[in-house]
Amino acid sequence: MTEVNVERIRRDIETICSFNATPGRGYTRFSFSKEDSLAREYLLSECSKLGLEITVDGVGNIRARLEGVDSQAPSVMTGSHIDTVYQGGMFDGLLGTVGALEAIRTIVEKGLKTRHPVELVVFSEEEGSNFSTPLAGSKAMVGRYSVEDLKRLKNASGVSMYEAAKEAGYEPDELPGQVLKPEEVKAMLELHIEQSVVLDSERLPVGIVEAIAAIQTWEIDVSGVANHAGATPMRLRNDPMAAASKVIAAVRDLARATSSGTTVGTVGRIHCEPNVTNVIPGRVRFSLDARDVDTASLEDFVEAFRRELEKQSRLHGVESEIRFLGGSEAVFLPGEITEIIETEARERGIACRRMNSGAVHDACLLATITKVGMIFVPSIGGRSHVPEENTSYEDIEAGCNLLLGTLLKLAGQAGFRCGEASER
Ligand SMILES: [Zn+2]
Repeated sequence: MTEVNVERIRRDIETICSFNATPGRGYTRFSFSKEDSLAREYLLSECSKLGLEITVDGVGNIRARLEGVDSQAPSVMTGSHIDTVYQGGMFDGLLGTVGALEAIRTIVEKGLKTRHPVELVVFSEEEGSNFSTPLAGSKAMVGRYSVEDLKRLKNASGVSMYEAAKEAGYEPDELPGQVLKPEEVKAMLELHIEQSVVLDSERLPVGIVEAIAAIQTWEIDVSGVANHAGATPMRLRNDPMAAASKVIAAVRDLARATSSGTTVGTVGRIHCEPNVTNVIPGRVRFSLDARDVDTASLEDFVEAFRRELEKQSRLHGVESEIRFLGGSEAVFLPGEITEIIETEARERGIACRRMNSGAVHDACLLATITKVGMIFVPSIGGRSHVPEENTSYEDIEAGCNLLLGTLLKLAGQAGFRCGEASER
């Protein structure tokens, strides 16, 4: 069986991770930054060595195409992102990008021919580290973002994604003509770290994703009466912090009580006004991130949260308001692709399981126009978005070999180079 060269994957990862804005404090490579442009320079030079046909769209999404025997056939895409969170890890996104590069490199090196063209895809601005909106690159690629949207998205310095893309040398005005059309793609595969504990705890090298959880993000305001912390008796307070803390503490049990058993709820951000030690707060604002692949359970959880918010507001004599900030629907990946991945894993003797993803990925956006498959490899200790993020190179090799094999199955390997017929 054709196999990837894991040493080249290690070299790619280490080279790109050397382009780092926070050396010694994790890995920081924001889209449109100097580090990002060095990483791209490296990737593009590797693609050029392989003779791939490279196009870069108005927000910097890269497509690098290896022609198939049938150049009119839709392509099979594979890739991920190369941007990171602030002080993140080495593997999130980057692994799926260099794994895809290595798969194509192996196809070229072995002289394999596929019926369908194979394309490496590298998405811009997946993490939302710059413009606070995740998946901006893939949204632009599938036509979810207009040029006006790019002008509206601003980073912390007030620079729009449109301006940042221009500054980095792209032509965002060209974007409408570059949107990926369904007829151009047969399927898309993304290899990614799991970012959770399931595979590591079960000692499995690979997971095959069946569904990606729906997300709802909410913002809650609890308003009471700010007053003197010493002079106001407890029974005469309208303390929004006391009410909010009861509601926040209930999130854990409410999420665990849904029928799916897979609902997760997180309060990750909280602001208090005036945020002073000797003043009862006047207002507490916090976020709720709720996720589940089971939409009914997700709705049940949010409804139970609302009831708890109303109850605690009544008991504490405060006002509350809940606003929907945004979200995404659950994505169910087509069974025909997961089955191909599973068959390939069986043929290669790679142990695996089917699983869901609690994190969103560029693949979710591609799923709106084509058939998508996702392969997970374990995150040691389940940790990600931190400098400690890690995956063993043994598991990386298994995941990349599975990616390569699935890619060849989907692209339709069109025969063997002379003398290599025994290889597959
Ligand atoms: Zn990622």
